[in-house]
Amino acid sequence: MRWFPAAALVLALLAIPSARAAENPCNTDRECHFWQTQGSGGTYWLVPHRPFHIIGNIYFVGSRNLGTYLIATPQGNILINPNFDANVAMIRQSIEQLGFKYADTKVLLISHAHSDHNAGAAKMIAQTGAKYAVMDGDVRTVETGGAADFQYGDKPGGLYAKAKVDQVLHDGDRIELGGTVLTAHLTPGHTPGCTTWTMTVRDAGKNYNVVIVGSPNVNPGYRLVNNKTYPGIVADYRKTFQILKSLKADIFLGAHPDYFGMEAKLAKAKAGGANVFMDAAGYQAYIAERQVAFEKTLAEQQAGLRK
Ligand SMILES: [Zn+2]
Repeated sequence: MRWFPAAALVLALLAIPSARAAENPCNTDRECHFWQTQGSGGTYWLVPHRPFHIIGNIYFVGSRNLGTYLIATPQGNILINPNFDANVAMIRQSIEQLGFKYADTKVLLISHAHSDHNAGAAKMIAQTGAKYAVMDGDVRTVETGGAADFQYGDKPGGLYAKAKVDQVLHDGDRIELGGTVLTAHLTPGHTPGCTTWTMTVRDAGKNYNVVIVGSPNVNPGYRLVNNKTYPGIVADYRKTFQILKSLKADIFLGAHPDYFGMEAKLAKAKAGGANVFMDAAGYQAYIAERQVAFEKTLAEQQAGLRK
């Protein structure tokens, strides 16, 4: 009978991630379920993660697989990605755990208008009074609570609280606060206003270019061919790959920690040595791999239509 306890243990371990996620519903159970079926890593979106210092004035305050970044300045803080409603309390806790004040959140930014990155914006703005700055291509989606989204707008599970945008951004616009300058790069395709953020940090007397990737991914169900709600989607993705390849990323970050292998890097950091987030080669390899994946999906969809 020795096999029995072992089998029971395996079953118990298998049950852990989904049980944890179920304790932390998004806006609604239906929304959580919807998003967890849309791509990989969803199970970990609502699992808390310890906050930590990345480099310069940048801190990680997200969950296991949702990238949220606090950029601390003497004139208040910038926050990128409020994530789901259910993540807002975790983010607040992470900010306070690092010794910063949640009420000092002055500017709220997003990677793109999908609810795993922006559904909690209305709640966070109500709590902090932060000004919301969003790329023009995503403004309508944000302000309609997802109803204007080209892919998920007609799916009730993809909807969330509407939030008013205070500042409409365009490609190349800069957000300046307390001596920090963030540049908004329009990297469309994943959403029409998908934004990759860059900034320079100083560490041990040297400057480093930080890149926070918006998303180069084609979600399950995205139509690249004959997309009636987003006719320019293929040209936009191709433009995005060109832009992403041209960016110099000394420090590689992104909207989801699995873009840049955060857990593996944190494990490596325990051994000491150079900052593990300095990964210019890893950044270029990631973008190249994602471009191949995009072209493969496009070719498959085109072949499917020719059949
Ligand atoms: Zn997305």
